[in-house]
Amino acid sequence: MSVTPMMAQYLAIKAEAPEALLFYRMGDFYELFFDDAVAASAALDIALTKRGQHLGQDIAMCGVPVHSAENYLMTLIRKSFRVAVAEQLESPEDAKKRGYKSIVARGIVRLVTPGTLTEDTLLDARAHNYLAAWCEVRGKGALAWADISTGAFHVAECPRVRLGPDLARLGVAEVVLGENSGVEGIVEEQGAAVTPLGRSAFDSGSAEGRLKALFDVGSLDAFGTFSRAELGAMGALVEYVELTQRGKLPLMRPPRREATSELMAIDGATRRNLELTRGAGGGRDGSLLWAIDRTVTAGGGRLLERRLSAPSTVEAVIKARLDAVSWAVTNDAMGNDIRSRLQHAPDMDRALSRLSLDRGGPRDLAAVRGGLEAGEALFSYLSETDLPLDISDMIGQDALLSLLSAALATEPPLLLRDGGVIAPGYDADLDEARKLRDEGRGVIAALQAEYAKATGITSLKVKHNNVLGYFIEATATHADKMRADERFIHRQTTANQVRFTTVELSELETKILNAGGRAQSIEDRIFAELCARVLTASNAIFGVARTLAELDVATALADLARGESWTRPRVDSSRAFDIDAGRHPVVERALKRDGAPFVANDTRLTAENGAAIRLLTGPNMAGKSTWLRQNALIAVLSQMGSFVPADAAHIGIVSQLFSRVGASDDLARGRSTFMVEMVETAAILNQADERSFVILDEIGRGTATYDGLSIAWATMEHLHDVNRCRALFATHYHEMTALSGKLSGVENATVAVREWDGEVIFLHEVRDGAADRSYGVQVAKLAGLPEAVVARARDVLQALEEGERAGGANPRALIDDLPLFSATPAPAPAPKAKSAAEDRLRDVLPDELTPKEALDLLYELKRLA
Ligand code: ADP
Repeated sequence: MSVTPMMAQYLAIKAEAPEALLFYRMGDFYELFFDDAVAASAALDIALTKRGQHLGQDIAMCGVPVHSAENYLMTLIRKSFRVAVAEQLESPEDAKKRGYKSIVARGIVRLVTPGTLTEDTLLDARAHNYLAAWCEVRGKGALAWADISTGAFHVAECPRVRLGPDLARLGVAEVVLGENSGVEGIVEEQGAAVTPLGRSAFDSGSAEGRLKALFDVGSLDAFGTFSRAELGAMGALVEYVELTQRGKLPLMRPPRREATSELMAIDGATRRNLELTRGAGGGRDGSLLWAIDRTVTAGGGRLLERRLSAPSTVEAVIKARLDAVSWAVTNDAMGNDIRSRLQHAPDMDRALSRLSLDRGGPRDLAAVRGGLEAGEALFSYLSETDLPLDISDMIGQDALLSLLSAALATEPPLLLRDGGVIAPGYDADLDEARKLRDEGRGVIAALQAEYAKATGITSLKVKHNNVLGYFIEATATHADKMRADERFIHRQTTANQVRFTTVELSELETKILNAGGRAQSIEDRIFAELCARVLTASNAIFGVARTLAELDVATALADLARGESWTRPRVDSSRAFDIDAGRHPVVERALKRDGAPFVANDTRLTAENGAAIRLLTGPNMAGKSTWLRQNALIAVLSQMGSFVPADAAHIGIVSQLFSRVGASDDLARGRSTFMVEMVETAAILNQADERSFVILDEIGRGTATYDGLSIAWATMEHLHDVNRCRALFATHYHEMTALSGKLSGVENATVAVREWDGEVIFLHEVRDGAADRSYGVQVAKLAGLPEAVVARARDVLQALEEGERAGGANPRALIDDLPLFSATPAPAPAPKAKSAAEDRLRDVLPDELTPKEALDLLYELKRLA
């Protein structure tokens, strides 16, 4: 059986990217065939049809219109597909010229994968979209990552054990790995897509060459000294980007080496648990980022997320950031001015990236112009002030800015082919061509009037369509009148209309077309020149964008600090952890919405040397987790360079932050939860050092009481004796409070409650000392447990407590001694005389009532009651 030429072409292209769905361009549609069609139609919920046969079988097909393809792409990428886009590489006319029956040449122009998106519609404006590559050479690992939508490119040492935490910090979308790297599981665990690439892509020798060529330098030394693993990772990343963009490389900034020792280490579990950038629901809502983000630009939003994800451990860096925020807090009028000026600053990073990939449009050039303008204006506004931020990068692009201002229309259209991109007055030839074209249009209007007058047909119109070009149209009833005039040449008769042309009109049309085509080609040329000019200045433009983002973050944090009465923390190299009246920003915000006050609490955890641990006891719902987390969040906020929700805070720099919750809070993750809890606790005990800050919430709860208590106890001793860190430890095992007598660095604290009339009232106040009881029974009562169960639980508790006081008798024996069913069941309610309404109700069959009858019945009952 023969294969049609088109199918042969399709199959050849498909073989180039077998792992991706192939979008095969046919006119105004991208078509998918065979298994691709089946998968895509299911994923996109679109119709699956058939088109011809291949080797005797029907060919499954589905398609998406080109103009709305981005939405479909987004859905497919979210559902972890990759998509190869094959375009027509020539026009059907050119194909015909090559020979009778030859089909249009097509080829893959791009592979769309989760880590290589550039379109605004496919991206979250306020979040980075990272692609990473990981490589290991002789036991030394390295991670390279890039956001090709902004040009950011980084590399860092990354041993296997750090890979998970680093991917979690960056929120990487896709990771390129060599075959058999053995870390696929770690990558998938972090929710990133795994992309295997041949070993040769990771070769450090060829990587060096590739990078030198990319950045057009003779040696990479200017960017730093890189290990072989780092070179391998960067090389593989660049190769993969080239592969997906089909040789067209996006603008990438020179790689920045990130010293991970300068960042607070926070692993994936801690990030999830503290809900730093993602809330419990997986989105931004309810996260710390959500609560603090007041930035007004997309670039500022991304910088804030970056800082929050990776707080600094370098005192000078933190101080510089805090100085900028302090300045904006003090100079609040100027801070507000900066914010309102920034509000209109466009996203230059992403515009530049699209321009470099030939995916940019007129509005991307306008974005660069707008951003440069904002930079210049802000510079002159701020240059005389004592703002402690280096803003010199914001100026120096006068020439480019005046070029763009002169050349680009004030509000250019979305697409270049819409015309009107280049401003009038910029290019004489263009102005001339446009004039001719527009005049031609004016002449056509005059012609229409003339023809109408000559024929006496007032409804006569000159119209245009793509098949006939310009034509004269009259209703069929006037056909004879028109034919009588020999100037009119008949072109077409439709059901109701007759269409004619004239020599005059045809000539005019050619003129208009020529002028229009000329105008368009001049616009195309100038547009390309402008793009090239912008791209040569890309580094400077990135510099402006970066400074605008920094200004945005500093003023946004200042706005937050003023609005919420936050204070500047003191951050230094001591081992202080001293907070006056600290609050939890997210819980406080939630409470505020309900009109409830948040009770602020102090934290005194300063350690000269050795461990400093607070053991926190108190009933469920008292506020233990909230207090634990708020302290961790205050450390994160301080070190990212933000003011903090407290009256005062003194934080000795934290190098590693750990947070764990007992198993039962983690059910949503759906794994053997106790096992997870233990694995995560092990990670802390193995890694935490004197510079770490640890919060442990109800560790050991996921197993039987004595097991749990023993594990919690031993964990605490290890933290104290070996890790010697600062830690907050919440537990409901009261037995553990005895540890404060044995371990010098441990002190007890409790969240106060008051008992009133058999009920608990939560005061949410953290105080020194141990909780006297757990109040579990009272809390259960609050939760609505039946009265009989609550009463019985009280009896059991009392018996157990008395037994313990009497010398710790075996609880089993005590329980055996408890009178069965001692709790008197609630008396059955005495039968009451039936009311008339109740009698009436007994006869009602609700299923048989119409809504109207039901309403009538309601009125009737009301009368009876
Ligand atoms: P626990 O860990 O002791 O079970 P949580 O920390 O989960 O308790 O707090 C339970 C609820 O109590 C929170 O959802 C919040 O509404 C409220 N709460 C906690 N701490 C405070 C506080 N300091 N001020 C006011 N309300 C609080």
